[in-house]
Amino acid sequence: MHSETTLNTLKAKLLAQRAELLERMAFERGGVVGRPEVAAELYEHSPSDNAQLRSEREDSFAMNEHETAELADIDRALAQMAFGHYGICIDCEVTIPTPRLMVTPTAVRCIDCQSSLEFKQAYP
Ligand SMILES: [Zn+2]
Repeated sequence: MHSETTLNTLKAKLLAQRAELLERMAFERGGVVGRPEVAAELYEHSPSDNAQLRSEREDSFAMNEHETAELADIDRALAQMAFGHYGICIDCEVTIPTPRLMVTPTAVRCIDCQSSLEFKQAYP
């Protein structure tokens, strides 16, 4: 098991990563529309131009899949911490080494299981 100090450090990392991610997502979702000059443009254009701008904004929602997956990983890691089974490989149940978690706090597998999984995915 990981020490409480390690867990607290990792929890802080995850929370910081989560906050940064949410900020980035909000920025991307706001997109160009958040910029004052474009906001001003919205008022000058006809209603049909506004509809065009709105649909472009909806497109950028679809491009957030990567961020959504990342957020889900962070939330899962935080939930695992809350239940006390964070940092344990989901395949072989060994404790994932702290240095690995420091680099990738959302890791759910030890390096051995992760690389054999990636190998299987690359050569099915
Ligand atoms: Zn493993």
